[in-house]
Amino acid sequence: MSIRPYVLTETNWKSVSETDFGTAVLPWGAIEAHNTHLPYGTDNIQLDRIAADACAVAWERGARVIALPTVPYGVNTGQSDIPLDLNMMPSTQQALLGDIAQALEGQNILKLVVLNGHGGNNFRQMIREVGFHRSKLFICEINWFKVLDAKLYFEDPGDHAGELETSLILEIAPELALPLDQAGSGAARPWAIAGLNEGWAWAERRWSEVTEDTGVGDPRAASKAKGRLFLDALTRKIGDFLAELDSTPINAIYKRQ
Ligand SMILES: [Zn+2]
Repeated sequence: MSIRPYVLTETNWKSVSETDFGTAVLPWGAIEAHNTHLPYGTDNIQLDRIAADACAVAWERGARVIALPTVPYGVNTGQSDIPLDLNMMPSTQQALLGDIAQALEGQNILKLVVLNGHGGNNFRQMIREVGFHRSKLFICEINWFKVLDAKLYFEDPGDHAGELETSLILEIAPELALPLDQAGSGAARPWAIAGLNEGWAWAERRWSEVTEDTGVGDPRAASKAKGRLFLDALTRKIGDFLAELDSTPINAIYKRQ
C-alpha cells in the first residue's frame, strides 16, 4: 500500500511541509454493538474508508484536503446498559471539536468539515458555538447517511446494522462480519405514542427497549456488491463537495448576484 498524502495518519512532515492544505475533514463515529454480526467499530471503519476515498476524489481534482484521524467515541447516552457501548457526552465532544478547530485556525487551515457517521451525534449546535469563537474558520457538517437516497441502493436500508451498514462492512472489511445466518432480525419496537412515530415529536430511544439484538433494520438482503455501488457513489459525491469547498475562497462562499 502506498502512502496517501491526504490521510494524516499515513502522511509525513516531508509531504505536509510541501503542501498548502486548505480543508480538513474530521470523521466522527462511535463504538457500539451493531446487531450480533457486525463489529463494534462499524461506524469508525466506515468513516475511515469514506473519508479517505472522498479526499482521494477531491485530491485528484486538485483540492488540498486532509482526512484527520476518526474520533472513535460518540454519543451513546441511550445505550448505557449495553456492555462496551462507550458514551462520550455532547459537552465533551464540543470541547474536543473546539480544540481541533483552534489548532487548525492557528495553522491557517480555515475550512473544517465534520463528517459524521453515527446517528446519536449531532454537531449543529456545536458548530454554531465553536464557530462563534473561531470566526476565521468555516465549519460545516456532513452526515454521510443523509447524502444519498439509500432506497435507490437497498431494499430496506435500515437504521442501525441493517442492510446498508452490513453491505458496507461486507465491502470494506468482510473478514470482520459474522455470517448473515448469525445476525439477528433487527426488528424494532415503535413508540406507543403516535406523534413520536410520526417524527414531529422527538425523544431519545432507550436502545435496549427498542431492539433485542441491538440492530434496527433487517440485514439479510445485504451484499458486498450493493456496498461497493453505494460507497462509490457516496465518496464521489462527498469528494466533489470537498473539491468545490476547497476551491471556493471563504470571502466568496455566498453567491453574488
Ligand atoms: Zn453504525
